[in-house]
Amino acid sequence: MANQTGKIVQQSLQVLLKDGTFLPSLKDEQRKQAFTSLAAILSTPNKVNKAFLRVALTSGNVVRIPAYRIQHNDTLGPYKGGIRFHESVNEEEVTNLATLMTLKNALHEVPFGGAKGGVVLNPRQFEIRELHSICEKYVRYFADNLGPDKDIPAPDVGTGEREMDWMMAEYKSINPGKPYRGSFTGKSVMNGGSLGRREATGRGVYFTLRYLLSDFLKEQRNWLSGSDHAFAQTAFAHADRPLKIAVQGFGNVGSVAALEAYHCKFLQNKVVAVSDRNKTLYQEDGLDVPTLADYVARNKGDLPTTQEELEQAGIKARILGRDDVLYLDVDVLMLAALEDQIHKENMERVQARILVEGANAPITAEADAHLSEQGAIVIPDILANAGGVIVSYFEWLQGRETQFYSEEEVFNLLYGKMKKTLNAIFPLYFAEPHTLRETCYIHSVMKLSTNLYIQGKLY
Ligand code: GLU
Repeated sequence: MANQTGKIVQQSLQVLLKDGTFLPSLKDEQRKQAFTSLAAILSTPNKVNKAFLRVALTSGNVVRIPAYRIQHNDTLGPYKGGIRFHESVNEEEVTNLATLMTLKNALHEVPFGGAKGGVVLNPRQFEIRELHSICEKYVRYFADNLGPDKDIPAPDVGTGEREMDWMMAEYKSINPGKPYRGSFTGKSVMNGGSLGRREATGRGVYFTLRYLLSDFLKEQRNWLSGSDHAFAQTAFAHADRPLKIAVQGFGNVGSVAALEAYHCKFLQNKVVAVSDRNKTLYQEDGLDVPTLADYVARNKGDLPTTQEELEQAGIKARILGRDDVLYLDVDVLMLAALEDQIHKENMERVQARILVEGANAPITAEADAHLSEQGAIVIPDILANAGGVIVSYFEWLQGRETQFYSEEEVFNLLYGKMKKTLNAIFPLYFAEPHTLRETCYIHSVMKLSTNLYIQGKLY
């Protein structure tokens, strides 16, 4: 993710300066000064925490595992963001992901700043007892920096409810007598987690697509039909026939987004392909997504790998290569795996006209520019995948109030919040010559700059 976030932040800043929307009440000289401060603040994290977690393995070996907690910005509230367990984690990646959290929270008016954590390991290669110890050590090493009003971690790739439960327990024992319920989000419901948190990111991803292609399109039909904007062209082309959808990644985000697409009453959808870390499953008439989701839940997260397994599970599909999901002749491609999936080398092969970023940064800056030039619509990560952190915020609130919402209340609140953002962003996107990603970044940076200025930080 070679510094893509930093680059786009710089670009958004330039746009703000050029079009005069950056602190318009200031005199030229002051504005330039404030602008330089803002650029410095957003392009570097406030604090980089790094440690080597020393863990005794069952085999008797002792390993030292690099771990990070990078706190990018806390202008809008306590730091917030997930902890990733993956072997490709590194400082630059975690910094980029932390920057994205700052922008995501600002965009959706979630009263948190941005942070991210990472541990360099493949969780599949560790025993449960070892993972437990890694989680406890992570909290112990970074304890001074964490807390319900300081920095609130959550799950990300490779972590889930179990890890958050372990981590909160460790936080509680390090801080006896202090409030602890809001110290981690994404916990299990029995342990103070929120109903709906597990599904929130995937449901939010699909909701964003559905809202843009159905509700928004209907409401704005007259206005949009006269427009030659790429979105209007692409969206109307698909209005009266089923959408063919491919989903990369069938984990917590991809499987839920695929299920939502499958059950959706507002749009006619056909989920023709889904993939995991080994293969793509393809079926021209549409896959039986609920049966696949059941299969995955019973088989450690893996989709069927052989024709025999498919037949036994009663699923009709062809098995293709892992990356084939990216190049199919479909209308919508939902990217719900990892970053940097569509890049300079493969961008020409993408046929989908609508791409939705369920993962963080799955499309590189270069590929993004290329796809936009070709008239494709890219619905960016900070807009589409914020469901997780929004429901994390509800979880944090529920922990404070010690009063819990029903699942229906959680999703009504989630969709209400996402709708508010979409209704604010869309008119801007149509009015200005920017991509949807640039529009979102500009909006977030504006919000941050106004708050930083009010707080007296831009001088
Ligand atoms: N890891 C998720 C994200 O990238 C959720 C973060 C959170 O809930 O704090 O947005």
